Amino acid sequence: MRWWGWGDPAHPPALPAHALHFLDATVGRGAHPCPPVALEHVALPAGRLSGGRLDRLRDALGGQAVRDDHYARVLHAAGKGYPDLVRLRAGEPGEAPDAVIHPSGAGELRRALDVCAAESIAVVPFGGGTSVVGGVAPMAGEHEAVIALDTSRMREVVALDRQSSTVTVQGGIRAPELERHLAPRGLTLGHYPQSFEYVSLGGCAATRSAGQSSTGYGAIAEMVLGLRLCAPAQDIELPPLPATAAGPGLRQLTVGSEGILGVIGELSLRVRRAPVERVYEGVFFKEFHSGVEALRELAGEHRALPDVVRLSDEPETRMSLSLAGSGGFKRRAGRAFLAARGYGGGCLAILGFEGASEDVAVRRGHALGLIRDLGGVAVGRSPGEAWRHSRFAGPYLRDDLLTQGVMVETLETAVQWSGLHRLHQAVGEAISGALGRRGTPALVMCHVSHVYETGASLYFTFLARQDESDAIGQWRAAKTAATDAIVAGGGTITHHHAVGRDHAPWMAREVGEAGLAVLRAAKDELDPTGIMNPGKLGLLSRPR
Ligand SMILES: Cc1cc2nc3c(=O)[nH]c(=O)nc-3n(C[C@H](O)[C@H](O)[C@H](O)COP(=O)(O)OP(=O)(O)OC[C@H]3O[C@@H](n4cnc5c(N)ncnc54)[C@H](O)[C@@H]3O)c2cc1C
Repeated sequence: MRWWGWGDPAHPPALPAHALHFLDATVGRGAHPCPPVALEHVALPAGRLSGGRLDRLRDALGGQAVRDDHYARVLHAAGKGYPDLVRLRAGEPGEAPDAVIHPSGAGELRRALDVCAAESIAVVPFGGGTSVVGGVAPMAGEHEAVIALDTSRMREVVALDRQSSTVTVQGGIRAPELERHLAPRGLTLGHYPQSFEYVSLGGCAATRSAGQSSTGYGAIAEMVLGLRLCAPAQDIELPPLPATAAGPGLRQLTVGSEGILGVIGELSLRVRRAPVERVYEGVFFKEFHSGVEALRELAGEHRALPDVVRLSDEPETRMSLSLAGSGGFKRRAGRAFLAARGYGGGCLAILGFEGASEDVAVRRGHALGLIRDLGGVAVGRSPGEAWRHSRFAGPYLRDDLLTQGVMVETLETAVQWSGLHRLHQAVGEAISGALGRRGTPALVMCHVSHVYETGASLYFTFLARQDESDAIGQWRAAKTAATDAIVAGGGTITHHHAVGRDHAPWMAREVGEAGLAVLRAAKDELDPTGIMNPGKLGLLSRPR
């Protein structure tokens, strides 16, 4: 993973020439390309762990599993959110863990947490490090030092119960590794966030992640059947069960706990038969409004939702088509054809159906029939296939945009159907207004990313020329305006990115002071010295 951005360091630049023209014609870009500084020029704060404390960690884990070198500290200094990347690329992350530890399993986890609790060392669980909300920010809180607890040595498949369609894995296993294990056995987890290539399943569970196929396969919270949480006070072990009425859902207290209670060392997940058939295709709607209404109908009494649903609004559709160049969709479906039928400035939806051939044929026929009745025009498979083949490419584009001096950020929410159109408009206006007032007009785009019977999630992407003199202030202005608008409009502060550090100021408005107090009580019980991931989820650490 690039320490300053996304993915394979050998990946070539991904921004095509016509994308630069598009930028010039819309938001503009920096006067000069702005590459990241060299690794050795990244300035880190001096380490605060004395030799004695490092020795105690090495005694607990073995020398190789404890690192405090420059590279390890830089790699764990931040996640992959926009402000993280701005700071890293400038060589000024501002904070860094004093050391990084790599436990290999339950025994080492326990010993590591015991040392950290005794020595007042804050612990930040670090899976794939792909958090975009400051979830892995190395904050010491009121402790004397902070370490990143990297789960990358905890990657085993512990057991596969085929009869019960359940796999048990260590928390650090990466999503592609698990799929590689399941595929030859004819199985899949079906969890495909855009960050799929690097995420850990423990990190996904800790953030209540949702994949691109979650409309069909369910989000991670529906997949986790049991888990073992290693907390400073004691472990919680919840066996895999299909269902239980044994009190309030403790699984759901730990899923989404973002490392503030302990480390998910092991988890049991529901798996499904791998699909034999995958059909991805495009559908055009005249405008976002009618597309949303069609999805609401499919999700409601018809129960005819595809496994992947993604409906872009007008600006996002326009940008997708502009960036598609002269390839498949434009040639085959023909924009002229759409324009002639009054769909020219419309909205593109990507629908994906997966499963056994017969099942796909039946569900697809049913859904497309309804969509036609609801005003949608099917435009064939090429837009769907193009989307499927580039579904993990977006993060590379972000790196290139940053090099071009372009701010690019995403944020998401979910809301009831009755409030969706108002919220779509309000968030768009809030972002445009905040950036426009700073003299950097924005291009704000949105798509419906996950659909439910009672509502849907909205996923916003916005671009603006980066304010070189105050990139973080520019980002904060847009983020604050958007999140205020989300809260005022009845949306959740996060549908799947989690709370982390960046959404923490709004957490009380989402769950109330009483809700926060309940979370704090759970933390006090499991983490009495407050070492686990201080400052996240809206809870401050409270060492006693
Ligand atoms: C380009 C990009 C695209 C993304 N797309 C999506 C998407 O489509 N859907 C989506 O849901 N998210 C998405 N994300 C956000 C991110 O990938 C998810 O939040 C993911 O679940 C984080 O997994 P991770 O292993 O990288 O966790 P990390 O980033 O390492 O950690 C995330 C949080 O979980 C805690 N944590 C990590 N491991 C454990 C553990 N074993 N036990 C306890 N706590 C732990 C950390 O302390 C932190 O608070 C995207 C991010 C990027 C950069």
